[in-house]
Amino acid sequence: MLPNPRVIPILAQPDPAVPAGEGARGVDGELISLYAPHEKIYPRSVSGLFSRWRWAMVVLTQLVFYGLPWLEWGQRQAVLFDLGARRFYIFGLVLYPQDFIYLTGLLVISALSLFLFTAVAGRLWCGYACPQTVYTEIFLWIEKRVEGDRSARMRRDSQSWSLDRLWRKSAKHGLWLLVALWTGFTFVGYFTPVRELARESLQLSLSTWELFWTLFYGFATYGNAGFMREQVCKHMCPYARFQSAMFDRDTLIVTYDQARGEPRGARSRHADPVSLKLGACVDCSLCVQVCPTGIDIRQGLQYECIGCGACADVCDTVMDKMGYARGLVKYTTENAIQQGWTWAQTLRQVFRPRVLVYASVLGAIVVAMLVSLSLRTPFKVDVVHDSGVTARIVGAGRIENVYRLQVMNATESAQRYRLAVSGLPGLAISSEPEVAVGATQSRWVAVRVQLPPGAAMPGSHPVHFDIDSLDTSGHLSERSVFLVPQP
Ligand code: SF4
Ligand code: SF4
Repeated sequence: MLPNPRVIPILAQPDPAVPAGEGARGVDGELISLYAPHEKIYPRSVSGLFSRWRWAMVVLTQLVFYGLPWLEWGQRQAVLFDLGARRFYIFGLVLYPQDFIYLTGLLVISALSLFLFTAVAGRLWCGYACPQTVYTEIFLWIEKRVEGDRSARMRRDSQSWSLDRLWRKSAKHGLWLLVALWTGFTFVGYFTPVRELARESLQLSLSTWELFWTLFYGFATYGNAGFMREQVCKHMCPYARFQSAMFDRDTLIVTYDQARGEPRGARSRHADPVSLKLGACVDCSLCVQVCPTGIDIRQGLQYECIGCGACADVCDTVMDKMGYARGLVKYTTENAIQQGWTWAQTLRQVFRPRVLVYASVLGAIVVAMLVSLSLRTPFKVDVVHDSGVTARIVGAGRIENVYRLQVMNATESAQRYRLAVSGLPGLAISSEPEVAVGATQSRWVAVRVQLPPGAAMPGSHPVHFDIDSLDTSGHLSERSVFLVPQP
């Protein structure tokens, strides 16, 4: 048997004669490989409370993900991130790059939510909502339908190739690829109008980028959910590495009740464990067989545990069959196990000051963002001093500067805007002071600004453009400079 690579650093010493990373000398001088080959995991299917929650989250998240691009809002797609036009549509909201602050707010809210959920119940995100978990669950479901449950899959994989094995493997990979490509297509449908994308796909006329991203996202899904699975959580996900820093002794985690379970051992359903001097664990290993990361929860908290609760579900069914109380493996806290707390006492500790602080900060940021969104001016203006045309003298000695204004209408109806300029005596707009912009459109306009002769010294002077919406109650003020040339 291969030595456990986690104990090698204690037992073995590096040998300068052995190339780095290839091995080390054990205590008896024997060369030990530091490479642990990957062993394929065949998770057994399970049913129970946490499994039902996980499936509820699979259905909910995928209804949203696959369904959202097909929703219409007026004459357009309800949710569309139109990178080409530099515009994001989210139902009634039209966001421009200038609204980047809301994306920052969304990221802060996501990070704080993760802190909050992790402090309350550990890796809730990993176990129930992470795309890696959700797609692995879908792919495992397909695998089970086509190839059967764990024992049938293991048996077939250990046998040589047969017609039965060939068609089942082909059918499974065909179905996986279908789901993966549909996922890639849906992903691109958030950035290109999805109906157009569907038409282009049927006519085989996708653009290079649309095809690239559909295939890239599709194959990433196929590879991650079909093959990499727990390896993504164990070796690639950064959150898996630092999430334990957010745990404390009052965080709910999936835990094996050692005091109740040990000493473990097989026994008949009718045997009395007390007279046999056994704990409640019948050592059936089902908790290991259902684990998607292949670990044994009875060895204590391990970073590989994604907190999915599958071991708790299956252990409850074992306890039911044995006629023992449920909860040998359950969500609980370190303190609750040590102090023997009831569920009510445990929950009281879960809502501790740290959690309340996270929740309050999160609530305050959500409210601030909603208020800010509801009060935001429904248009944007960018002022660019036209570098091609510097200050010039026009009729009657007046000094003229030319600007380019980009007026962005963030509403669903056409709007008119009135432009004005201030900052120097007699400064005025000499071009058309009104601009009309179509619904959700943006428009560049050239604006000429003139100053009476002698109204300002030569040099650069700060000025303000004031833009008022004539159809909604919006006002914006943008800064720029007015250049007065040397006489
Ligand atoms: S499922 Fe429960 S009883 Fe069976 S080995 Fe795991 S902890 Fe013990
Ligand atoms: S140990 Fe239990 S909760 Fe953790 S990943 Fe395995 S089955 Fe899920």
